[in-house]
Amino acid sequence: MTSLDISFRERPRTEEAGAGSVAPAPVLRQRGQREVFCGLTSIVWLHRKIQDAFFLVVGSRTCAHLIQSAAGVMVFAEPRFATAIMEERDLAGMADANDELDRVVDELLARRPNIKMLFLVGSCPSEVIKLDLSRAAQRLSRRHGPGLSVLNYSGSGIETTFTQGEDACLASLLEQAPPAPAAAGEQLLVVGVLPDIVEDQFRRLFTAMGIKDVAFFPPRRAGEIPAIGPGMRFLLTQPFLTETSQRLEDMGARPLRAPFPFGSQGTTDWLRAAATAFGVDNATFEAVVQPAQARAQRALAPHRRALEGKSIFFFPDSQLEPSLARFAYEELGMRPIEVGTPYLNRDLVGAEIDRLPAGVTVSEGQDVDLQLDRCRAARPDLTVCGLGLANPLEAEGLATKWSIELVFSPIHGFDQAGDLANLFARPLARRAKLRF
Ligand code: SF4
Repeated sequence: MTSLDISFRERPRTEEAGAGSVAPAPVLRQRGQREVFCGLTSIVWLHRKIQDAFFLVVGSRTCAHLIQSAAGVMVFAEPRFATAIMEERDLAGMADANDELDRVVDELLARRPNIKMLFLVGSCPSEVIKLDLSRAAQRLSRRHGPGLSVLNYSGSGIETTFTQGEDACLASLLEQAPPAPAAAGEQLLVVGVLPDIVEDQFRRLFTAMGIKDVAFFPPRRAGEIPAIGPGMRFLLTQPFLTETSQRLEDMGARPLRAPFPFGSQGTTDWLRAAATAFGVDNATFEAVVQPAQARAQRALAPHRRALEGKSIFFFPDSQLEPSLARFAYEELGMRPIEVGTPYLNRDLVGAEIDRLPAGVTVSEGQDVDLQLDRCRAARPDLTVCGLGLANPLEAEGLATKWSIELVFSPIHGFDQAGDLANLFARPLARRAKLRF
């Protein structure tokens, strides 16, 4: 059954938006058939980040297939993920799945003794048979500790979207974070998986501003998890980290709310939130940020010329959609028609939604057939959608961009602003070439 519910944004554009603000636009909420990947997909970027961790999916052959194809791993590589495949005997309760899991983990550790952290990742099949991976993680930690920590989280596709895999993973990793001593000074924690090169760029900018005590979460090594406590201010790099953000607050850390660091303006606003909280004066901030900002604007300029005035339609996929729509509108001059997101967390993205133009439809959840009807009626110049929708829409003459590419590519920060814009520009350039 399909239900349709229209409600209003809780955060009206009043003081924040200033003069000229408009009334809150309605959020269209729909529930029906959805077209999204499951949380296992996030292992593709998580396993590259924490270099001595291993992700063991407890799932079916379908799960193994998904991970293998998404990661594009060659058979002779030694990836830091695998699937403990549940056979019919496990699913039918004819074998003790816990014994089987213990045996698989023993084999894995015998072959890969350098693993320092093991994530047991739940899937639809493990959830359906109610395999308790949290108890399994405790048991395996006792058996193989203290040199190995075993954690668990769910990557199941039941009622989730793929970026929630990262959120669930980071929330579980926080269980390993020691409490910060009461006398600890103010520290900045930057939260969310970033490519190392982007992390290094941000660290250099913070250091140049005088914010020297900066930690990144997740760390590159399992043994480098920072202590968390009330002296800590945290800045999210991804809008889909709802559970992680809540856990950090429960542990005493205080959030810095900001637009997400996409494009020149988004990155400036994001850095400014930290600069303001850590007492960096305006002259220092401008001196540090200005050269990188100028580089970003130069990189954006040709893409803006190509994309200005073009309409864009976002299907819900990664939860990055409101932030990317803000970027496309403010920094590329594009015209968002609909901005769909699987879940809308107003605390995290409300400010960016308020920066979208009047008349744009913001939608949460999905009934894919109804959304396809709206997209076909609007005939946008560019449609950002999942892989499953892209080919049929291309066949109908619409230019598309795979939304998962926006998650797999380095797009944060000043030096990636041009690359991010190019991801939007490329499908249109390709179509223009094909027409000649
Ligand atoms: S976790 Fe569920 S949705 Fe994801 S691959 Fe496995 S069975 Fe499919």
